[in-house]
Amino acid sequence: MVKVGVNGYGTIGKRVADAILKNPRFQLVGIVKYNPDYSSKIAFKKGINIYVPQDKWRDFESTGITPKGTIQEFLEESSIIIDASPNGKGAANLSLYKGAGKPAIFQGGEKPEVAELSYSTYCNYDEAFGRKYLRVVSCNTTGILRVLCALHREFNVKRARVLVIRRGADPKEDARGPINSIKLESFEDVSHHGKDAMLVLPSVKIISQAVVVPTTLMHVQYLDIDVASPVTRSQVIEALSKHARILLVNPKKTGIDSTSKLIEAARDFLRSRNDIYENIVFENTIIVSDNNISLIQAIHQESIVVPENMDALYAIANIRLPFEKVVEETDRLLGVGG
Ligand code: NAD
Repeated sequence: MVKVGVNGYGTIGKRVADAILKNPRFQLVGIVKYNPDYSSKIAFKKGINIYVPQDKWRDFESTGITPKGTIQEFLEESSIIIDASPNGKGAANLSLYKGAGKPAIFQGGEKPEVAELSYSTYCNYDEAFGRKYLRVVSCNTTGILRVLCALHREFNVKRARVLVIRRGADPKEDARGPINSIKLESFEDVSHHGKDAMLVLPSVKIISQAVVVPTTLMHVQYLDIDVASPVTRSQVIEALSKHARILLVNPKKTGIDSTSKLIEAARDFLRSRNDIYENIVFENTIIVSDNNISLIQAIHQESIVVPENMDALYAIANIRLPFEKVVEETDRLLGVGG
């Protein structure tokens, strides 16, 4: 079993840690926690080893949590680190990993330079082998790339324009907004998502723009895609349906026409933490005309990158399995598509 440590146990880290616990190829060495908050208590109760900064040791003990060790010990005991730290902190952590000689997987909140390769399974799985540092691209970029690469495999995508309607905050982030506004994501002409996606899929010209809206549940994206030759709607549906991480939802048949109903469905399906690992493509929104495809999809920001983090582990651990086998294994263990 490959020993994996998770540094940062927030929205992404706790989900990735649970995914590692489900996979018999990997052993969760433990997590690094920086404060003895309620999630530390839950992890401790679950029997997950908690490593802490030396100067926080007593704070943890005083709340009844006995740390397993320090960050230094965490680095020594882990063979691979998944860094799920807040935006930008992963870059600072890189020197720790380099010092300990440990490979690491970073998240999309880091600048691309933190790693040797920005990664998304459907696009560049094969390129990830032999790398020491990978960066799994952000939630929105993962959502965009899954669709583009699924279509690119079949139809040779030429260009894409994307409108990202980004959730204002995660459910726990009560200090973020906007509360009563729809806001441009930045002062720039384009958003970072398209540029980020082109790092992974450089042969396709991808331009994105983004607005931020007062919701916490999911992102919504509108994609407008040109492929090399004319295609039919049924060919597009067939191409997307081949991939378990892209779920076509028909609002007429299911009654699901919103992010809130999707989250309710995830609850009803007893998905842990309401997680939706799949891109949810609203089937009725797929419009195909000659060589142009457009669609609307919803992306659950808190969980969408978990499968890609797991696949990235296979690559960085040099578990050389074909793309289809790794995706099938990750998806089965997480219950993707189920
Ligand atoms: P988060 O704030 O929920 O969790 C980060 C955790 O890291 C916290 O528990 C914090 O205590 C801990 N931490 C603090 N200092 C640290 C350090 N120096 N090193 C390691 N950990 C430290 O953040 P998150 O939402 O889980 O985001 C983590 C990364 O994943 C970011 O790069 C983010 O951009 C990316 N990401 C987030 C989402 C999302 O929607 N939340 C989606 C995809 C990718």
